[in-house]
Amino acid sequence: MIIPHSGWTRKSAQAVHDLPLMDLLFRAQTVHRENFDPNKIQTSKLLSIKTGGCAEDCAYCSQSARNGSTLPASKLIEVQRVLAEAKKARDGGATRFCMGAAWREPKPRDMPALIAMVEGVKAMGMETCMTLGMLDDTQVVQLRDAGLDYYNHNIDTSERYYSEVITTRTFADRIDTMNRVQEAGIKVCSGGILGMGEHTGDRIDMLLTLANMTPPPDSVPINMLMPQADTPLADAEPVDPIDFVRIIATARILMPKAYVRLSAGRSDMSDEMQAMCFFAGANSIFVGETLLTAENPEEDTDSILFAKLGLQAETAEDHKRTEAAE
Ligand code: SF4
Repeated sequence: MIIPHSGWTRKSAQAVHDLPLMDLLFRAQTVHRENFDPNKIQTSKLLSIKTGGCAEDCAYCSQSARNGSTLPASKLIEVQRVLAEAKKARDGGATRFCMGAAWREPKPRDMPALIAMVEGVKAMGMETCMTLGMLDDTQVVQLRDAGLDYYNHNIDTSERYYSEVITTRTFADRIDTMNRVQEAGIKVCSGGILGMGEHTGDRIDMLLTLANMTPPPDSVPINMLMPQADTPLADAEPVDPIDFVRIIATARILMPKAYVRLSAGRSDMSDEMQAMCFFAGANSIFVGETLLTAENPEEDTDSILFAKLGLQAETAEDHKRTEAAE
């Protein structure tokens, strides 16, 4: 059940966000060190298991059939192909394998294949995550019983701004699915996108909605919009890098135990900006060249950056230790 708790209000969250930058970064790094090893970064690999032709109208997305996308719609890919990709990801050091489908919701006929994917990836010793759109009660239980660890369902932005970005579902629909997922005992991965024309207050409200979930999400992806041609947000203004870092730091302080993930947009960030985000408390990234359809830095680039910063990828054993300490 998502019940707002009284820990954070808009006023107190805004006050944190608006601190002088050095004070904000110091506070975020202090909270980070109290909860995580500051030199370890969790790495996930994301695979698109069904691309394009989506019935939703998310204004940022090149997979929406309503955005005039020319991206061809694929069918759900075969289970064996997913497992082969998962094995490659595990051998490359990823500890979590995320599978994303461009759907409003899965159909009952898709469930056997989705269950087989979760069971197969889990059997390889990796954490499993899926993002499939809305889920009903039966689907949530089926995925949980197959061993699904995380369900990604981003709230994208504030409740106030949501209808400016998506009209085919509501903010409340989003919260309903997250409620179901949490009640079934699956961990929630939920965050949003900066740079869609929202105000700073919308960004803070988005974090506040997540922080006031009971419990807050275990994983909070923060994306920087990568404007996609032919989408309504193709000409959106870029996000100011310092504004982005402020949101990462605020997320870390509001949700001390969550893995805060630098997600889409990382390929447009300088090494210095990424380093500042890690200092502000980001401790998770996607590895691999593509994120569903958007670019991501190549793994070699990440290894070089990690070496420069003295960062290490969190191992499965590290992750278990962090969870046990909570
Ligand atoms: S973001 Fe997801 S739900 Fe929205 S249009 Fe793209 S694939 Fe569909």
